[in-house]
Amino acid sequence: MVSIIKLFYRRRRLNETFLELRVDSKEFLYFRKKLNKTQKEMAQLLGTSVKAIHSYEQGWRSVPGHIERQVLFLVSRKRGGVRRQKSCWVIKKCPRKHRVRCPAWEFQAGYLCWFINGTICEGTVQRDWNKKMKMCRDCEVLQPLLNPEGSAT
Ligand code: SF4
Repeated sequence: MVSIIKLFYRRRRLNETFLELRVDSKEFLYFRKKLNKTQKEMAQLLGTSVKAIHSYEQGWRSVPGHIERQVLFLVSRKRGGVRRQKSCWVIKKCPRKHRVRCPAWEFQAGYLCWFINGTICEGTVQRDWNKKMKMCRDCEVLQPLLNPEGSAT
């Protein structure tokens, strides 16, 4: 019984740690403004309800991974938004032997590598989206999107 309780709390701590890595309410609002969308338009774009958008912005609900992924994608594709970047394998000076095994290379997504699971960053594949985003958030490929002015968010 004790071990079940320990497992429960360990799992909860892990989840809390991962949630901290996600787009938070302020960031979500920042991205919506950047996209120049109302809450209703944002709900339509993300295939969710206005109530959900409101909850993300108020911090009543954490932003799920699939929503975070779509938001980052839309922000990255906005006309006149972030300048087109070099491919990640150029920025990261990724050796050819790694590059040819990486989905970012396979799917010609060098500037969208953060969008694709299974990339071989720092030599290893991350197990899931949360682990991947933990790495991507500190990476110079994704940084211009999260932090266009170069100031810490
Ligand atoms: S860590 Fe993320 S953003 Fe950086 S190269 Fe890998 S997939 Fe791209």
